[in-house]
Amino acid sequence: MDDVDATDDRHAFRFAPSPNGALHLGHALSALQNDALARKSGGRLLVRIEDIDTMRCPRHLAIAALGDLAWLGLAWEEPVRYQSEHFADYRAAAAKLDAMDLLYPCFASRTEIAAAARPGEFDPDGAPLYPGIWLNASAAPIEERLARGEPFALRLDMAKALAAAQARGSARLTFTSMNEQGHIQITEALPQRWGDVVLVRKDTPTSYHLSVVTDDALQGITHVVRGLDLLAATDLHRLLQVLLDLPEPVYHHHRLLTDESGRKLAKSAADTSLAELRAQGWTPADIRRKVEMV
Ligand code: GLU
Repeated sequence: MDDVDATDDRHAFRFAPSPNGALHLGHALSALQNDALARKSGGRLLVRIEDIDTMRCPRHLAIAALGDLAWLGLAWEEPVRYQSEHFADYRAAAAKLDAMDLLYPCFASRTEIAAAARPGEFDPDGAPLYPGIWLNASAAPIEERLARGEPFALRLDMAKALAAAQARGSARLTFTSMNEQGHIQITEALPQRWGDVVLVRKDTPTSYHLSVVTDDALQGITHVVRGLDLLAATDLHRLLQVLLDLPEPVYHHHRLLTDESGRKLAKSAADTSLAELRAQGWTPADIRRKVEMV
């Protein structure tokens, strides 16, 4: 809990890029929205580098991302939190869920899952909904695979997790969001859409979902401002917050920038990377105008 100053009751916002490529105009929109809302409310702006995928997110890309943000004119509180330096916090969160008997190991490969999945059933990210292959597996096959050193993921037993949340007094799981005008809305969260989601990956000892709720709490984030592409993830984040006894932030999901053909801007779209635009002579003011317009 070293990131939280209990005496600071200002609103706290964060921009949390995954630096597996150069920051682009979509990132600029998100960062600028966080900055504008933090300023408007006299709040704090924090930056978090979401680099649990240490191979795909090398440190030099994180440093380049911070350089882009500074060039845009943003100022944030130090220190920047690098998720790759806090695996112990995510392990502790997973251990808490495990102690509640809500996690189970899954050795299945993507191919096995796709083959066993029920046709037409997908999670909100478009991946085949996990068909419960290792749910309720007996001890013998698990021990056999463990003895062979086979990698495994830890999945959330969604049915048990929903029951546990209900037992904690959350009969109806909701999230609170704020629109551009600051109006508050309460929406029902439906985490079951994710099925038995992976919370600890095979290749890294956490997942986006587990790390994000852990860090938002550890950093004392009161307002989560991020793109509409993460709207469905909020449902799951609320469930994890209830299970882990974490505070509930207010959410704002902003519009996404699209290219001429209506597709979401990709990080790899070099022509819209901030570094490339800067090299072409764009100024920070040009970037601000552009993200307000598109
Ligand atoms: N790291 C995520 C991304 O770059 C955003 C996470 C979040 O804002 O919750 O898409």
